[in-house]
Amino acid sequence: MAKTILEVRDVKKTFGGITAVNGVSFDVREGEILGIIGPNGCGKSTLFNCILGQLQPTDGRVVLDGEDVTGLRPSEMNRRGVSRTFQLLQVFPQLSVRENLILAGQEHRGTMLSRLFGLRDVGLAPDADRMIAFFRLQHLADEKAGGLSYGQQKLLDAAMAFMAGPRMVLLDEPAGGVNLTMLGHLEERLRAINAEQGATFVVIEHNMDFVMRLCTRVVVLAEGRKIAEGTPTEVRANPAVIEAYLGH
Ligand code: ADP
Ligand code: MG
Repeated sequence: MAKTILEVRDVKKTFGGITAVNGVSFDVREGEILGIIGPNGCGKSTLFNCILGQLQPTDGRVVLDGEDVTGLRPSEMNRRGVSRTFQLLQVFPQLSVRENLILAGQEHRGTMLSRLFGLRDVGLAPDADRMIAFFRLQHLADEKAGGLSYGQQKLLDAAMAFMAGPRMVLLDEPAGGVNLTMLGHLEERLRAINAEQGATFVVIEHNMDFVMRLCTRVVVLAEGRKIAEGTPTEVRANPAVIEAYLGH
């Protein structure tokens, strides 16, 4: 079995009286595409925020390569080779596709000041162009991101997470609101980047078919707790999972 990269142990997050994540544990293994599914509001995005350091968990541990990284800042997690996308688009509409990618690369290298001081030439243009070619965005490289279709912006958003060669990428609803053609393209490219570069993914997604096709393993959350874990086929046949989905 592939080695474990990330261990999430009993992570809990409360907001005042609300328990968004209630003691969730799972492992992420090298090279896998792990899906995280569950009804709206069950704590998926909050869990990502706790792993990547956007939020401090109320309780529990996040361990990367055997090292406790609980509560480290996002820039520290980036430096350790973990990056992410957010549920809502994070592209800069006034910047071109290439500039967005370069900026993302700077952030992943821990040059957090890039947002304040703008783009500097730190040799990331070739990386950006590689990513543009990989995601087939060549014809849009010099277009402002804000002028792209929603699906193209989601693709760019995903591409940004892969700048600077991360080992692990957490994608929060990459297919959300994306049309079928673009969905197929995104799915095929994610599969290719996983196969060719050995990148490990954790993907939150609502589109069940997408998850079932793309993921090797799935963790199911409901009301802040893990209710199932297994192959796509196993979780789809799990009565607790069916109940959680039908109940909403
Ligand atoms: P999901 O991504 O699975 O749809 P979220 O993680 O976004 O769910 O939200 C889980 C729960 O935590 C929801 O009830 C949501 O309203 C609540 N929540 C998320 N973020 C905050 C916050 N910053 N402050 C208060 N409540 C929050
Ligand atoms: Mg969410």
